[in-house]
Amino acid sequence: IFLLFRMYRIRSLKSKMDPLGMLEAAPPEPSVDLDQLKVMNLVGQGRYCNVYRGILEEGEVAVKIFAGASRQCYLNEVEMYNLAHIEHPNVLRFLGSSERMGQDNWPEYLLVAEYMSHGSLMNYLKENTYDWLGMCRLGQTAAAGLAHLHQSVDKGGSSRPAIVHRDINSRNVLVKSDLTCVIGDFGFAMKVFGSSVVREGDEDNSTITDVGTVRYMSPEVLDGAVNLRDCESALKQVDIYALGLVLWEIGTRCSELYPGGDVPPYKLPFSDELCPHPTFEDMQVHVSRGRKRPAFPDAWKENNQALRSLKETIEDCWDHDSEARLTALCVEERIIELMVLWDKHHTVSPTINPTSEGMTSAT
Ligand code: ADP
Ligand code: MG
Ligand code: MG
Repeated sequence: IFLLFRMYRIRSLKSKMDPLGMLEAAPPEPSVDLDQLKVMNLVGQGRYCNVYRGILEEGEVAVKIFAGASRQCYLNEVEMYNLAHIEHPNVLRFLGSSERMGQDNWPEYLLVAEYMSHGSLMNYLKENTYDWLGMCRLGQTAAAGLAHLHQSVDKGGSSRPAIVHRDINSRNVLVKSDLTCVIGDFGFAMKVFGSSVVREGDEDNSTITDVGTVRYMSPEVLDGAVNLRDCESALKQVDIYALGLVLWEIGTRCSELYPGGDVPPYKLPFSDELCPHPTFEDMQVHVSRGRKRPAFPDAWKENNQALRSLKETIEDCWDHDSEARLTALCVEERIIELMVLWDKHHTVSPTINPTSEGMTSAT
């Protein structure tokens, strides 16, 4: 009994020091041969690590290097990537992980993944515009990746619970060479199962919702009002709110939505309304109390059904009422419908398709 008590004490002590429960995870076996890995140029910087382009067995890879202090993020991310049935065309492909002694004899942790030459979605949006179909493809694939994570899987004798990402934003979505999106950065991702988070030790509920990027935080996260009795649905809804902002970002760079005009430069959500580095309190006032969302461009006032549906889909993602939001799967299906809607609009509208045939059928 004493031993059991001690074990319990150690466990709960551990979870107090480590509220995210990440210390519980056994360190992963190294799965990358460091002698084969060449780390080349820096391609990205996140909050917790530097990302480099690397070469492994003749192929390009991305190498995410975490300093010792970010070990928990590393362990969490590797744990997520090692779950059964995580692979999906719209989820960043994990290739392996390892540890080594860095400069000054401090340990560093390496996570190796497929290299995305376009970098983050945000980088891509800054430098590129695309037509309606290109926009739909970016949005649909981002939604498909998230839908896959949100879906629990049980097949082929192995299973995994649903995963919530908890840090969806345009820096954590990457763009593949075929101009589709993949979801990356599982530093905060979490397994969820109904009302319980799948992890050991005591629960400290504040840490379940107290993560993410403030700009992308939903009103209920800002209010500390996430319904943890149904953790699974509530945290998925938090992801969908952020997906709505990402879809707005993608939409604003679609050249076909500014007929006769220039596409405005890329903007982060809320950058028109708030200072460059809004605080948690700024976001609370604006998004939660003020119920504000990013404005749609003036050029989008045109009354065409495809555009209306796009705006509706975005609004149904960032609804103030979290339970009214769409599921990721539903977002994906709606965007697939959008692809077709635009074609219809083109053939029906005489102003957009003023061929002699189009004119006669319109009169
Ligand atoms: P952090 O957990 O520190 O936020 P991320 O995984 O989000 O790190 O990566 C930071 C940045 O590095 C991304 O925003 C992106 O620009 C770049 N990056 C990350 N992974 C890749 C990849 N697989 N290929 C290309 N660039 C990447
Ligand atoms: Mg990141
Ligand atoms: Mg991260």
